[in-house]
Amino acid sequence: MSLLVLGTVALDTVKTPHGERKKMLGGSATHFSMSARLFTDVHLVAVVGEDFPVKHVNFLKGKGLIVDSLIRESGKTFSWSGEYKGDLNTAFTLNTELGVLASFKPVISDRQKEIKNVFLANVDPDIQLSLLASMRKPRLIGLDSMNYWIDTKRPALLKVLNKVDIFVANDQEARSLSGEDNLIKAAKSLSCIGPKMVLVKKGEHGVFFYSDKFMLALPAYPAEDVIDPTGAGDTFAGAFMGYLSRTKVLSRQNIKLALEYGTVAASFNIEDFGTDKTHRLTLKKLDSRLGFFKKCLF
Ligand code: AMP
Repeated sequence: MSLLVLGTVALDTVKTPHGERKKMLGGSATHFSMSARLFTDVHLVAVVGEDFPVKHVNFLKGKGLIVDSLIRESGKTFSWSGEYKGDLNTAFTLNTELGVLASFKPVISDRQKEIKNVFLANVDPDIQLSLLASMRKPRLIGLDSMNYWIDTKRPALLKVLNKVDIFVANDQEARSLSGEDNLIKAAKSLSCIGPKMVLVKKGEHGVFFYSDKFMLALPAYPAEDVIDPTGAGDTFAGAFMGYLSRTKVLSRQNIKLALEYGTVAASFNIEDFGTDKTHRLTLKKLDSRLGFFKKCLF
C-alpha cells in the first residue's frame, strides 16, 4: 500500500567533526523518503523555492519517488543549518529560514487523498493539519515534530497530535512536550493527547515504543563511523512506516520488525553526509545488516 509523506525538502548546511557541507539536499521528507521507498510507493508532498536546483528534483524522481505534489513557489527554499559536536548526539541549530514554507498550503490529487498510510514529517503543525484535513480515510497516520515547532506552535501541534495514530519523537522533544523527565511517563502522557502509539528515539541509546497494549525497547545499531546524524530520525521513521505500510495488522510482531528496520536504516544514514549513503540503499543491503544486527541482540 502506498505511503504519502508531507515534510520539508530543504537545503541543509551541516558541520560535524568530520567536515562541513553547504546547501546540500536535506529536509525531513527527503530523508524519510530515502528509506520508505525501499518498501512501497512514496508520494512526496513539499514545497521548494526558485533557488532549488533542478538536479535535486531529478534525483528525487530517479529514486522512484512520486513528486507530483512537490511544488515550486517563488521565494527561497526552506533552509536549515546545524552543528554537531563531541558524541554527535545533539544537533545545535544555527539557523532556520522558512522561506516558501511560511505560506505553503499543500495541494494533493484526488487519488492521493485516498492513500491509506500517511506520515506528517517534521514541518509546521498548521501545514500538517491542513494536509490531514484533505485525506479521506487513512488507516495509519504517523507524525514527527521538533523543538522549533513545540516552542513556536504548541497549540497547533497538540491539535494535530490528537488526530494521529503514532507520534515519533526524540527524547528531548518527548520531555519538552509532556513536561515529564521519565520517558515512560512522557510517552504515557503524550499518548493521552491522542496518539495510541508513541515512539521515542534516543539516538545512540536506541528506541522505546509505547502503546497501551505493549511496550518494546531496542538498542541502536552498534555504529562505529558516525559522520553526520542529520536525518537519522527521519530515515528511521521512513523504514518504520514503509514496513508497516506493507503489513495488514499492527501486531506486536510487525511493530517489532518495523522498529528493527528503522534502526538499521538510520545506521546507514549516519555513516555519511546528507543522503550520500541512503540514496544507494537497497532492501538487500538493509536485510543483510538487519541479519547482523539480530545476531547482536540477545
Ligand atoms: P533529523 O535529524 O531527523 O531531526 O532531521 C533533520 C532534517 O530536518 C534536516 O534535513 C532539516 O532540513 C530538517 N529540519 C530542521 N529543522 C526543521 C524544522 N523546523 N521543520 C522542518 N524540518 C526541519
